[in-house]
Amino acid sequence: MFKIRFSYLTLILIPIIFAGCQSGGMSKQQQNWGVVHGGLVHDEHQTRATRLCSALTAGAIREPIRIHVLATAAPAAYSWSSRDIYVSTGLMDTLNDAQLTACIAHEIGHLINDRHCDGVAALQGHEGSNPDEEKAADATGVRLLSVNHMPQEWLIEALQTLHDSDSCACPRTTLEDRINTLKAASKNPN
Ligand SMILES: [Zn+2]
Repeated sequence: MFKIRFSYLTLILIPIIFAGCQSGGMSKQQQNWGVVHGGLVHDEHQTRATRLCSALTAGAIREPIRIHVLATAAPAAYSWSSRDIYVSTGLMDTLNDAQLTACIAHEIGHLINDRHCDGVAALQGHEGSNPDEEKAADATGVRLLSVNHMPQEWLIEALQTLHDSDSCACPRTTLEDRINTLKAASKNPN
């Protein structure tokens, strides 16, 4: 059974093949779940999601991660332990590319923290630092952004946009708490 979650140096030079983002290749259980959550879209949303996900994973994540788009108006993102990430059209239409990239990084953060995928050394070994799984995924997600030379502020901006969005069903106090934690961490990097 797959676990599902709603919603992430050493100097030894070992040749490692890093993988990009793909679509397709789902289990029957996932296919049924996708139908219940609005069904998949294969239009320009999928092209955009694959492009942004690949920019994060290429050179940073060892296993292939598949990204899919659900035809759901509510902003939402999900990660499966099978290394499948789902983003809704509502989320994609709410966020710009930078913010959406940060949300995908958060989802990959869950996969790394739960040891469902492996990344470069800079992404490993921090999962126990925060007992709050969402904040821990945020922390790993901003490290993934950082590894890719992307601003950590993208995740703060994404959470703030979702916070201010009328269509977001997520508790605003929870988002405010995560935003404040990210802001405090960016001021005091360890
Ligand atoms: Zn999450």
